[in-house]
Order: sequence, then C-alpha cells, then structure tokens
Amino acid sequence: MTTKYIFFTGGVVSSVGKGVTAAAIGRLLKERGFSVTAQKLDPYINVDPGTMSPYQHGEVYVLDDGAETDLDLGHYERFIDTSLNKVCNFTSGQVYAEVIAKERRGDYLGGTIQVIPHITNEIKRRILLVSKTTGAEIVLVEIGGTVGDIESLPFLEALRQMRSDIGRENTIYIHVTWLPHIGATDELKTKPTQHSVAELRSIGISPDVIVARSDYPVGEELCDKIALFCDVEKKAVIPMVTTPILYEVPLILEKAGVGDYLLKRVGLDARRQPDWTAWEGLVEKVGQTHPKIKVALVGKYVELHDAYMSVREALKHAGLELDVEVEILWIHSAELEKGRGWEEIQQADGILVPGGFGSRGTEGKMQAARYAREKKVPYLGLCLGMQLMVVDFARMVYKSEEPNSTEFDRSTPYPVIDLMPDQRGVVDMGGTMRLGLYPCVLQPGTVAAEAYQQPIVQERHRHRFELNNAYRDILQENGMRFSGISPDGRLVEIAELENHPFMVGTQFHPEFLSRPNRPHPLFVAFLKAVKQRAGI
Ligand code: GLN
Repeated sequence: MTTKYIFFTGGVVSSVGKGVTAAAIGRLLKERGFSVTAQKLDPYINVDPGTMSPYQHGEVYVLDDGAETDLDLGHYERFIDTSLNKVCNFTSGQVYAEVIAKERRGDYLGGTIQVIPHITNEIKRRILLVSKTTGAEIVLVEIGGTVGDIESLPFLEALRQMRSDIGRENTIYIHVTWLPHIGATDELKTKPTQHSVAELRSIGISPDVIVARSDYPVGEELCDKIALFCDVEKKAVIPMVTTPILYEVPLILEKAGVGDYLLKRVGLDARRQPDWTAWEGLVEKVGQTHPKIKVALVGKYVELHDAYMSVREALKHAGLELDVEVEILWIHSAELEKGRGWEEIQQADGILVPGGFGSRGTEGKMQAARYAREKKVPYLGLCLGMQLMVVDFARMVYKSEEPNSTEFDRSTPYPVIDLMPDQRGVVDMGGTMRLGLYPCVLQPGTVAAEAYQQPIVQERHRHRFELNNAYRDILQENGMRFSGISPDGRLVEIAELENHPFMVGTQFHPEFLSRPNRPHPLFVAFLKAVKQRAGI
C-alpha cells in the first residue's frame, strides 16, 4: 500500500493540544488495523531539544535509540503505543546543518543553495525517511508552532509540495485552531480561524479538515460557519472541547467520526472494527472518585508542569491501576534549601525526585531524600533522584557532608557519583551522555526484582554520571542494595535501601516507558507503598 500522510498545522495560538490531537488520531487509525507512526517537525534552529531549558520547551523525551526529542513524541508513544525512532523528530537546525555540510563537501557542484529547493528537499527527504525506517502505512506529521511564524515557512512549503509529489489521494491536511470566547457576549468567535486558514491558503495549502479547539461547547451553526468560510466539508469540521481527561480525546474524535472520514479521504477501508473497551474503561476510571494519595514531586522546574510531563503521566497510569487518585504536590527544591515547603513534604505520603541537570536545588533534593530515608517515607528517585539518594546515603555512612557527585563538587573527597574513567576528557556537552535503551539485570530478592517480575529489562537513559564502583562495597555494607546491574556488572542501574518500606532509585528514566494501559512496574510498586503509608 502507498504510504498515506496526514499533516497537522496549528492556527491562531499554540498550546491548544495539536500534539495530543495528532496522537489521538494516530490511535483511531491504529484501531482500524493500520500501522501508524508520527513525526514532529520543530521549526526552531536548535539542533535538538537536548540542550534547551525545560522552562522553554518542557520535558526532553528520550526514545529507545537515544534520540532526545520534543515532548509531543511522548504523547504519540503513549496514545499510539508504538516505539518511535530518531527520524521521528527533526528541527530547522538539523536541516540547515545537513545542507550546509553538503555544500562544504561540494555536493552541490557550485550551485546557489536556496531555501527552495535545497532546504525544502531536505525536509521532504526526512519526512519520507519515516515510512522507510518504520514501515508504517500511515505517517502523521506535525509542524510545531502556528501558521504565520517565520520559521515554519520552509516546512509548510515542503508540505505543500508533498501533495503534488505523492498525490492528493495520499495526503490530508488537518489544521488545528482555537475559537476564542468573548465573555461580554458569551460567544465563540471563528474569525481568527478564518484568518489562519486564509494565511495557510496564501502559502498554497487548503486544509481538508479543521479541528476547532475550544473551552466551551461548539454549536452546529458555528461548525457550519467554519465549513462555509474555510471551504471544507461540514463533516470535516471537528469541534474539540477541552476535556480534563486527556485520554478521552480519542473517544471524542471517534464519536465525531474522524477515523472513518480520514480513511475515506485516502481511499482506505477499515481492516477491523475499533475496540475501545480498554480506553473506555480507563476514562471511566479517571472520572470516578478514588481515595487520594499525595506525592511530593521535588524538582527545579515545578512551575512548569510540562517539564515533568512523562513523570506526571506515569504517576497517573499507576494510580489508575491501583484505584487511587494521585495528587502531586509540586515542590521547588531550591525552596526546601531555604526552609520553605517542608509542611507539604510532611503532608506527602511519598516523595519523588525526578531527573535534572546542574547544581541549583540539588541540596534541597538531597534533603528531601534524607527526610524520606529517616522518616521511612516511600521514595522514588529517577536518574538525578537516584544519584542524590546515593549521595545522601554516603553522607550518612561517612558522617560527613562532603560526599557528592562530581557534577556538583569536582574536588569532593568522596566522589560517590562520578564520570566513568573512559568518559573523562570528553568536554563537548551532550557528546558523553548515556542515551537510550540499556539492559538491566535484576538481582533476585530485591524490591525492584519483585516489582518487575522479570530477570532482565531494557530501560531508557539520559545522563552522564554513574555510581562510582569504588564505593559499592561500603554502601552495601551499610544497607544499600544494588538491585539492578548492567549485564557486564560495570554499571549500577538501580539502588535501593534495606530496612525501608520503599526507597528505590533508578539510573534510567522508567517514566518514558509507562503507557496508559501498561503502567510501569516501578511506579506501581512505589504507589503501592505510598498507598500503604496513607493507610488505604
Ligand atoms: N545530571 C545527572 C547526570 O548527568 C542526571 C541526569 C538526569 O537526571 N537525567 O548524570
């Protein structure tokens, strides 16, 4: 079958859930028996989001192959439940870097390098790579930002060309817009959508489908108006009212008939009837009231919850499995250092310290780990959260505040977390990271092995520092167990404490492999302990 492409553009404003819409549509098509994958095109100039502040860009999502990507890929993987690869996300920076490198090599034989066709050709090449590397029959391609951004012009031009390159019957353009609500007259406005579609048309793209996002119910007359003014079929105007339940989005789109409509447009018939039983069960559960448990999430970007998107989702998934509602208490680690936020820590039934880079707030996270250790509060440490749990433990063992990670104190006499000897001397930021899937062998009889119920697992990594093997014996003698080890025995992947209800730290990021219907075993085990502490 010829690969079918569905292109998603955004109109009016960003942050209206274009990524979630694309991800949910991916699920609709997968439910109809097609292999589906998704790609995100980011118009910014950075080569990848790996070095961007989470304040600006939210979480960096890591794939199996170690690609550091936009957080929308997390939505795609969670909704479509497929593993993406590094070609599924690229930026203007990568496109330009590639074209300029080719020019330097002399590949263009003295030609003048221009946005059209050189940049646009490189964009199209990368779009076409997705089906080649994944074998997907339907590829969803989402362009970051909104129509009208200067940066996105080459991407939109490439998309425009795709229709004539691969055929009208193989392409669909979906424009996701926003209907503002005017309080004074209590009405929704379609004008910005009309303008945005006009702008898209001026670039040469006529959308086939318009998803109209709104915080208020969208009446039929409004859909008619959008259809008329924007020249799309009435059936192709999809109102999408904001829902507090993220996983309800595919069900809303299913009800609106989007799945069948899209297939029809590209001349396909569903291979099977969609089966939404599991999703409906999930959404129903989210809607029910469950006993609440409180988890303190101690991080340095807590003002922006998107910075911890996958952790939040993983907690949600595990909570659903255990019939509890997880209330996250967002605690700023730097505040803890100043003595603030401790009342909330005391209220929490569990403490989670997620990943992070740089020294700001690390002492606060360490204090939270110490509190969890001493008060026997369930603790889950992810990557940096594991490293700081080890540092805190070493400080207790040595009765000294000097043990540290060399990331934060290069001259500590007790470098319990350190670079591996073969990593030293590599200074290029990003070049030394351990990224992507690595195997981890579970040690029988440990909390982690009990949680996983598997002898060996693969988990996603994104870090530079490791537990220093010179300290393994002394830590172990004092009650730390290394419950997950790399197959060659060189790297500690999971550390946990004896004589504690649940104090587990992972060098990897389990949150990236949690799925709505397949919660991650370590999150489930953590929340079981939290539940117990809460007396539920
Ligand atoms: N900064 C730490 C390291 O580089 C931890 C990274 C993380 O938490 N992802 O090892």
